[in-house]
Amino acid sequence: MADTAGKFAEEKMPFNFFKKVPKIELHAHINGSISAETIEKLIKRKSDKVKENCLVSKWQTTIQKGDKRDLDECLTMFGIIYQLVDDTDAVFLVTKSVIEDFEQDNVKYLELRSTPRANPETGMTKQLYVDAVLAAIEEAKKTAPNIIVRFILAINRKLGPDDALDTVHLAIQYKEKAKGIVVGLDLSGDPSTQDSNNFVAALKLARENGLKLALHIAEVPDLKEARVLLNLIPDRIGHGTCIHPENGGAEDLVNIVEEHSIPIELCLTSNVKTKTVPSYADHHMSYWYNKQHPCIVCTDDKGVFSTTLSEEYSVMARTFNLTEEQVWNLSFMSIDHIFEGEALKNYLKELWKKEKGKVMFLDN
Ligand SMILES: [Zn+2]
Repeated sequence: MADTAGKFAEEKMPFNFFKKVPKIELHAHINGSISAETIEKLIKRKSDKVKENCLVSKWQTTIQKGDKRDLDECLTMFGIIYQLVDDTDAVFLVTKSVIEDFEQDNVKYLELRSTPRANPETGMTKQLYVDAVLAAIEEAKKTAPNIIVRFILAINRKLGPDDALDTVHLAIQYKEKAKGIVVGLDLSGDPSTQDSNNFVAALKLARENGLKLALHIAEVPDLKEARVLLNLIPDRIGHGTCIHPENGGAEDLVNIVEEHSIPIELCLTSNVKTKTVPSYADHHMSYWYNKQHPCIVCTDDKGVFSTTLSEEYSVMARTFNLTEEQVWNLSFMSIDHIFEGEALKNYLKELWKKEKGKVMFLDN
């Protein structure tokens, strides 16, 4: 069925259509979004250090594989990136280049997320990490003027509750200091490393201070974790793969999500590549989309998984046999779920309306 649908969609909608649709990206980790070209630049920057470890050729083989990378190689990529992005200059460079990539893909509004990391060897503190991200967002206004960028600080479960609280304090401080650029908190990382209850206090503190919550929930079946986090009524859910009963979730979880109409950030290629979903056709997007629940198409880690937001829209249209109008509406309706006020939402909606006439009847 997917193949027939695929042919149908491809004939009806050339890839250029997905590129031309203005888009909103709400789930993009900075480090996982780095392109192969930027990684090559980072390797050159650190060539002496990495040559010592004889890693360059091994790394380059993995990086150059692009979309042919298997799961192990994708995980290797994250390891390579963490070694390369270990000082503030690298954080600045990668953030700026990721913003430029998204602008090139016709993304008009982008919420980037990242876990602030300290590295005593290079003198980078968590604060300097955030400064470097914010400086890159400011600088990118010149090199990528057609995209609006906001920043979500991410808590990595693996680093534990003290680090989480520290990150929340940092986010609160920067919410004021960075004048509206820092908009929320993310919770990510391996859910098996910590009990989710350990993060509730930090997440509540963030919310009390006006920050929004976009939490990775139920990437794997874990009813306890999902209950704890969904009972916080987050502003958006990352993935939500195992919320519904057929995927190891439960009816009460579905009820919370539906009752509060919590939007779900869906990252198709990421889920298929990391094997939390067996195939595109089996993706839980169909479950939520058929319920007319708010769905937002996102990339997660476009660099590591070798994709773009246009490609994700194209895969989605092909898999679920969507019409141009349905694709357009998914993009348009994402505007309602950005971590911003009505003024910016209205500005974006006007922009979409202006673009619609140019995009929708492209080949008629
Ligand atoms: Zn993610």
